[in-house]
Amino acid sequence: MIEEKIVALASKYTAETIAIRHHLHAHPELSYQEFETAAFVEAKLNEIGIPNIRMGITGVIGIIEGKNPASRVIALRADMDALPILEETNLPYASTKPGVMHACGHDVHTSCLLGAAKILSETKEDWQGTIKLIFQPGEEKNPGGASILIKEGVLENPKPELIVGMHVNPQLETGKISFRGGKVMASADEIYITIKGNGGHAAAPHLTIDTILVGSHIVIGLQQIISRNNNPFSPSVLSICAFNGGFTTNVIPNEVNLIGTFRAMDEKWRFAAHELIKKQATSIAHGMGAEIDILIDIGYPSVYNHERLNANAMGLAKTFLGEKCVEETELRMGAEDFGYYSQKIPGCFFRLGTRNEAKGITIGVHTPTFNIDEDAIEMGIKMMAFLGANLNING
Ligand SMILES: [Zn+2]
Ligand SMILES: [Zn+2]
Repeated sequence: MIEEKIVALASKYTAETIAIRHHLHAHPELSYQEFETAAFVEAKLNEIGIPNIRMGITGVIGIIEGKNPASRVIALRADMDALPILEETNLPYASTKPGVMHACGHDVHTSCLLGAAKILSETKEDWQGTIKLIFQPGEEKNPGGASILIKEGVLENPKPELIVGMHVNPQLETGKISFRGGKVMASADEIYITIKGNGGHAAAPHLTIDTILVGSHIVIGLQQIISRNNNPFSPSVLSICAFNGGFTTNVIPNEVNLIGTFRAMDEKWRFAAHELIKKQATSIAHGMGAEIDILIDIGYPSVYNHERLNANAMGLAKTFLGEKCVEETELRMGAEDFGYYSQKIPGCFFRLGTRNEAKGITIGVHTPTFNIDEDAIEMGIKMMAFLGANLNING
């Protein structure tokens, strides 16, 4: 039985995978700078005997062929980049690069996929099809490594029929994983607004264009787009997070800058909202006599998990691990460039529980003290290998 082999091999390779994770954690690299990481991944794949190529400068794509390679092609994805954060964990394998840290668990994703690759390679007589391993750069930074790899053809030759990605979850206990079909994470676009007008003496506002007041109306007007135009059953968030203008008590400034983020779960609404944001902000500014420039920088699309694929993955996980270990992922307004893949082919983005209150491991991702409970690594390797060997869209 392949399940038993995977369980045995995952246990056998856990220590080695943890050592790989420690190496990656100690040597983090920022988005699109993953040169050492990519070379490390290539060396590991070569050691296992998995043919691989470079893609997108610091991406590595490996291919494992099982029985009847053309019968089924699936992709397993891990991201490899770290964040510009100064690590404060005091771990023996803490970052050796000041100001760069694996604070989102991408070291875990990469090491678990290497562990799974080793298992899938050793069991290739036991499963059908071809597995494409995607070690991608730049998840944390626009335009997103996924979008670059897609442009370079990662979803062609051979063309995967589905893609699986895993992410650590410090809110979910170790020993558990979670799945969800449909919408799981939001799109994220950046909003940059500049309001211009002739400022002047604060005691003579009638002789000026009050850019501060215009900006204030725009902040409020934009909030009403979400509350009045968005379908309340589809979450969407608009947050203006910086309001910059002025310098003293008695001068109305010539310019005010607003920046913020817009998030949505529905791609149609997302682009409709961009137009509403531009229209609303422009008409407020013009109505009050000011000029306005608006830039909406398009970020990652929402992550949509194919319903049937995720139901199948969840079903397999329940059989493999037991009902108690499998939960439903909660909706999040965070973004993930896995969305680029899942907009193109059926995707399954699942969560690996890495929380352990007894060990004091509860802190969230993107913080200087983030860490995972490494007891979760065995589950991470096992699940990637198991889904790689078994997951199909049709049952
Ligand atoms: Zn992150
Ligand atoms: Zn991440």
